[in-house]
Amino acid sequence: MKFGLFGDIHANLEALEVVLAELEKEQVDTYICLGDIVGYGANPGECLERSRELAKFTVAGNHDYAIAGKLNIDFFNAYAKEAVLWTREQLSKEQIQWLRDLELVHKYEDQVTIVHGTLNFPEMFDYIQTSYDAHLSLELLETPVCFLGHSHVPVAFFQGPTVSFTMDYEIDIDPNGKTLVNIGSVGQPRDENPKAAYAVYDTDRQKVEIRRVEYDVDKAARKIVDAGLPEILGERLKYGR
Ligand code: ZN
Repeated sequence: MKFGLFGDIHANLEALEVVLAELEKEQVDTYICLGDIVGYGANPGECLERSRELAKFTVAGNHDYAIAGKLNIDFFNAYAKEAVLWTREQLSKEQIQWLRDLELVHKYEDQVTIVHGTLNFPEMFDYIQTSYDAHLSLELLETPVCFLGHSHVPVAFFQGPTVSFTMDYEIDIDPNGKTLVNIGSVGQPRDENPKAAYAVYDTDRQKVEIRRVEYDVDKAARKIVDAGLPEILGERLKYGR
């Protein structure tokens, strides 16, 4: 079985289209979306429709819940807040309801778990940045691998006597161990690499591959400006931060 994983799309249709075309070439069996489909970018409605028609499972990101009115945006920075308010105007009632109904954690058989932030407090949308943060989620994990997003930086953590991590793009999944894989962001990478990030998990080879692909960053940035969204949300795409 081949899983195609994508998330943190952030309404960037240019990036999403290229990622989905790559996954199609890969002949993925099951698509999974890790949330933050919308927020920041210029094409929330299109990204929501493309994502929901393909993904067998989708978990909620903080931006999805914020737009759906399920999360207080007082703690969002000014640009994110502006994007939330703008995005609400672009989506239909039905689309907003779909975001509101997204679950926080999903476990697929005994194979895969997905969450946007952490397993210990998924509703808090905390970041896994340290080995200790990773440990708290690994303790709760009931499948060999958990895929997550949120930080927009690809990284994997492995359970062991002490938690270890790697930033390699090829990750071996130990069927008897536990691994967390942050797959990075389709639509707003923050690791100083502007290429869109996504992942393929081949269960036969027990291997996850993080992939990066170029897309038309200038077009996505221009559309952000044309939509009247803060210019910085377009600019940052060019630098991947
Ligand atoms: Zn995000």
